[in-house]
Amino acid sequence: MSDQTRFTLNETDLPKNWYNVMADSPVPPTAVLNPITREPITPEFLSVLFPMEIIRQEVSTERYIQIPEEVREIYKLYRPTPLVRARRLEKALGTPAHIYFKNESVSPVGSHKPNTAIPQAFYNKAAGTKAMTTETGAGQWGASLAMACNFFGIDLEVYMVKISYNQKPYRRIFMQTYGAQVFASPSERTDYGRSLLARDPGNNGSLGIAISEAVEVAAASGGAKKYSLGSVLNHVLMHQTVIGEEAIKQMDLAGEYPDVVIGCVGGGSNFAGIAYPFLRQNLKDGQRTRLLAVEPTATPSLTKGTYAFDYGDTAQMAPIVKMHTLGHTFMPAGIHAGGLRYHGMAPSVSALYHAGYIEAVAVPQVGTFDAALQFTRAEGILPAPESAHAIRVAIDEALDAKAKGEKRVILFNLSGHGHFDMTAYQSYLNGELVDYEYPAHAIEEAMKDLPHVAVDV
Ligand SMILES: *Cc1c(COP(=O)(O)O)cnc(C)c1O
Repeated sequence: MSDQTRFTLNETDLPKNWYNVMADSPVPPTAVLNPITREPITPEFLSVLFPMEIIRQEVSTERYIQIPEEVREIYKLYRPTPLVRARRLEKALGTPAHIYFKNESVSPVGSHKPNTAIPQAFYNKAAGTKAMTTETGAGQWGASLAMACNFFGIDLEVYMVKISYNQKPYRRIFMQTYGAQVFASPSERTDYGRSLLARDPGNNGSLGIAISEAVEVAAASGGAKKYSLGSVLNHVLMHQTVIGEEAIKQMDLAGEYPDVVIGCVGGGSNFAGIAYPFLRQNLKDGQRTRLLAVEPTATPSLTKGTYAFDYGDTAQMAPIVKMHTLGHTFMPAGIHAGGLRYHGMAPSVSALYHAGYIEAVAVPQVGTFDAALQFTRAEGILPAPESAHAIRVAIDEALDAKAKGEKRVILFNLSGHGHFDMTAYQSYLNGELVDYEYPAHAIEEAMKDLPHVAVDV
């Protein structure tokens, strides 16, 4: 075992391939349905929104997909990211456990999201795309794609959930600085946005609504604009596996192997990014690492949702996929972890959870910020509220190991820093933060809106 604290790799260690879990997954892929016909989707439907190479990756079962050299060159701006042993946190907790974290907050925008924004912009550029659309909640994804589109000379329109647009002006300005156009969603620019505003001019928006607007603009552009999604889809999760592939090499440098790998889940991409390469080692190499997904109690799609076919967005324009869902009409409470406020979950994460290959736990907001503060004071890094969910459970695992007198090797993904989330920390420090009850009634209502699909698709 190494006595080092920080494990860094050289540029030459940057992975050459992404890992496609579909090659090894013990659960078969589920159907993706056209939202209108509810029949299996055709590549023609997808090609309105995505370039062909992205569609190919979305349905691929090849184990490894080569990372283009142009993408690797841009990854080198911040990758390989460090793996750090949280020795000061271990000491503060008095635990015999060893806690490691993979620090994705060192990317230029401060989160893991550029890992997929860069290749998505690259493949669009290669296919001749001149303009793209996307949605963003708190702005992490929008900023990542704005940076990537700027690198490749692609225009970008971002539909930003209105409440965040108003409350988080700095992320909006960040996107505009990269050259993106940012609109508060619901907006007057789409049929769907106008219909919502006619009914309720005060509509504050949601991620599901913003996805609908971004998809509508791309679909109506006659091929001039392509759409991009920052999580949930297979190709997005696959691009994030650079995190886990690097972590395997770094744990090797540390001379240890994780007993448990932890990540927070919104749509599932940073969790899959760190966990799927370790799942491969479980399936192919006889390892027995527990893979643990952490979600907020306010949007408990894995732990309390239904495994069913549902729309990816609120306006029923995005494809229908089989996933753990709270219902596409479910409106999550206004928790500060904006990146985790999504009604559904990546189909592959849902299927693997359903089959018992990964575990999930839901944690409440105040306890999450307690953990964030403990981490900040021990390690010096102020985490994103989303990432703090993973920290909460890493600390709980370390305390459990202490109670049982066990040595346990814990690895979690620090998906981002919280430098744009100071109002959340202010609320916490002022004692104003609240926990949200499990929204049983709202979920029950939203469940009534699930689409009816033929059972054997
Ligand atoms: C967007 C975001 C998440 C949640 O998205 P996933 O696709 O589940 O990873 C988590 N952490 C941070 C910092 C984010 O920006």
